[in-house]
Amino acid sequence: MADTAVLLDGKETSKVLLEKVAREASQFAQGDLPKLVAVLVGHDPASEVYVARKMKVAAQLGLASELLRLPDSIETAQLQAEIQYLNQDPHTHAILVQLPLPKQIDTLAVLQTVAVEKDVDGFHPENLGKLLMGIEPVAMPCTPAGIIYLLDAYKIPMAGKRVAVVGRSIIVGKPITLMLTHRNATVTLCHSKTRDLDGILRESEMIIAAAGQPGLIQADAVQPGAVVVDVGINRLPSGRLVGDVDFEALKVKAGYMTPVPGGVGPMTIAMLMYNTLRLYQYQQGLKVERLLLV
Ligand code: NAD
Repeated sequence: MADTAVLLDGKETSKVLLEKVAREASQFAQGDLPKLVAVLVGHDPASEVYVARKMKVAAQLGLASELLRLPDSIETAQLQAEIQYLNQDPHTHAILVQLPLPKQIDTLAVLQTVAVEKDVDGFHPENLGKLLMGIEPVAMPCTPAGIIYLLDAYKIPMAGKRVAVVGRSIIVGKPITLMLTHRNATVTLCHSKTRDLDGILRESEMIIAAAGQPGLIQADAVQPGAVVVDVGINRLPSGRLVGDVDFEALKVKAGYMTPVPGGVGPMTIAMLMYNTLRLYQYQQGLKVERLLLV
């Protein structure tokens, strides 16, 4: 075994997807471009950064994009009305609602309002339901789909592997559990009420950490040679960005691991762009490529 872990380079791997989107989008330049609309409620600093990056990458790829800013005080029904307007707009092909939403908003109701054929994050119940059934929806949740794509790019086998997923959100933990299960992994889905997390981690050959807790995954709870995917993005008081994993200790113990930043983040953005293109193709009656990730 190598002395240091192989870094799963999301920045490099995502280029393949981004180039594909740019190439295909250029074919539509004369007509109606694929358009991504991001809905941002309020001014959460992290959300501002994420949305700005998404808009920037969309523009770089030659996609049309728009940021719809709404006030922090908006109520669920008003937000739903804004989304319904976008659902009806023939020039909007992909709708992204930046999470988290303010406390007064019923997030699940809002996610269900996005038209299924414009649901670029794949959070609509029909899209999540398809994922449960092992049918690839047009758009799959970007972060987990990006992780599977990254693991495939490095030819890391999933079949038969014992995997611990830490975190059970519908953004990451639950959909990655389904995707890995379809790839024949044996998955333990852990969360804040899980007893003896470290014991479960020690028995796992692969760990997907998505809890948003810096330092949660320590090297003594990880098998030598394990595959460690760090989804967490946490800003320390010093301003430094870190994941959920003790990167320095694990890089001499894990077999493969993702850096933060530069691992899962770029894959998420690339998958968002790819989903925008696919939704556009689907709405235009064009052939939609299947990644067969599920
Ligand atoms: P969330 O806050 O919705 O859910 C966190 C989950 O972690 C919960 O299910 C909770 O039960 C679990 N958890 C919390 N503390 C735990 C503990 N001590 N032990 C075990 N489980 C624990 O989070 P989310 O939206 O899924 O995001 C998780 C992290 O991933 C955050 O840091 C977020 O910023 C990051 N994220 C990164 C990307 C990316 O592209 N890299 C995308 C989405 C989310």
